[in-house]
Amino acid sequence: MADVYNWQLGREMQYRFREAHPERQFAAIFNINRCIACQTCTMSCKSTWTFSRGQEYMWWNNVETKPYGGYPKYWDVKLLQLLAEANPDGQVWDAAEKADQQPYGVYQGKTIFEAAAEAGNEYAIGYLPSEEEWTGPNFYEDTARGPEGRRNQYFEEGSELPEHKTWFFYLQRICNHCTYPGCLAACPRNAIYKRPEDGIVLIDQERCRGYRKCVEQCPYKKAMYRTNTRVSEKCVACYPRVEGSDPLTEGVPMETRCMATCVGKIRLQSLVRIEDGQWAEDPQNPIYNLVRVEKVALPLYPQFGTEPNIYYIPPRWVPRPYLRQMFGPGVDEAIERYTHPSRELLAVLQLFRATQKIIFRYEIEEGEQVLDTEVNGRRWQMYNDTVIGFDRDGNEAVRLSVLEPFHVRPQQYLNSI
Ligand code: SF4
Ligand code: SF4
Repeated sequence: MADVYNWQLGREMQYRFREAHPERQFAAIFNINRCIACQTCTMSCKSTWTFSRGQEYMWWNNVETKPYGGYPKYWDVKLLQLLAEANPDGQVWDAAEKADQQPYGVYQGKTIFEAAAEAGNEYAIGYLPSEEEWTGPNFYEDTARGPEGRRNQYFEEGSELPEHKTWFFYLQRICNHCTYPGCLAACPRNAIYKRPEDGIVLIDQERCRGYRKCVEQCPYKKAMYRTNTRVSEKCVACYPRVEGSDPLTEGVPMETRCMATCVGKIRLQSLVRIEDGQWAEDPQNPIYNLVRVEKVALPLYPQFGTEPNIYYIPPRWVPRPYLRQMFGPGVDEAIERYTHPSRELLAVLQLFRATQKIIFRYEIEEGEQVLDTEVNGRRWQMYNDTVIGFDRDGNEAVRLSVLEPFHVRPQQYLNSI
């Protein structure tokens, strides 16, 4: 095991391989507050990549309902249980050590890699989900209940929605294209690699022999085994689109299918620049801005230690202890900033799902003040600023104002259908 630096943990940790970083890293932000669980992202991924025989159960993108649901079933509960056994003193963070380069403080527990090193037999702790656990995504999580003993049936006299007595939320999940992937560390064939140009993690289908170590040791359970080809597969981050080979974007990098089709406009994707193994300071990159400057978007289970590259704006209505165990100690600050956004943050939030071209940089043109009010007991002013997103080549890809255009249908066209 080598010592590598994990900025999300604020410290060095042990990993199978020495540090080797890409020039740019594929990264995205999902705003949980806006997801309506329409599953358009799920179906657009499925119809692009996993519609063939042997891939029936493969949902590289899934949206699950928390706190009850998960795909495969109980994946995070099981992982947290394994991590809890390895950390009898708790998965503790020292938030007092927060600093620019370690925005969440320092994680003092063991990661999945360190727990395995101690046990001495694998590269990361993990488990293989059972076939039953892979049965179906969002299985009875968010649908009406059926009569007792009869599955997939409805009450003839009508049905009622499940009673989530206090709260629930939707968690959108794809492969995190981790900086220190558990799947890559686990592979005895060295069949998994991280691309130097964009950090996308791929499985070489020729080298894979289907040992399923990646399925076992990806803590997010995003590597999947295909029984008819006897090799493993995973999310490929729509790499032909990210490479810009789709004619629709005239050769510039394009968002993945799940990002580009998001109905709720909850997703924003970019490529962050890496220098000396760290995110290069780049405050005009929207992902850098939201993760490192505004700090409204947080990694999922950072304590696993893989340094995942999908970030989440946490849901504001969910009990904080639940969110802290899921997103780490940055939760309170993230929600505070999201519910009382700075002038710049409000403008950058407009960029979500606004163009199929990947936005590498943004600029803001200031507009007039349109609101002076109180939010959470504090004065808050809103400005109709304009945010402009630029593609890889520096060309304008999108332009949006904080206030949406308002159209009034003329009197003579009312009821004209
Ligand atoms: S398409 Fe967007 S809004 Fe719909 S489920 Fe997926 S992430 Fe949520
Ligand atoms: S989420 Fe899992 S499959 Fe994806 S890179 Fe990380 S460890 Fe590998």
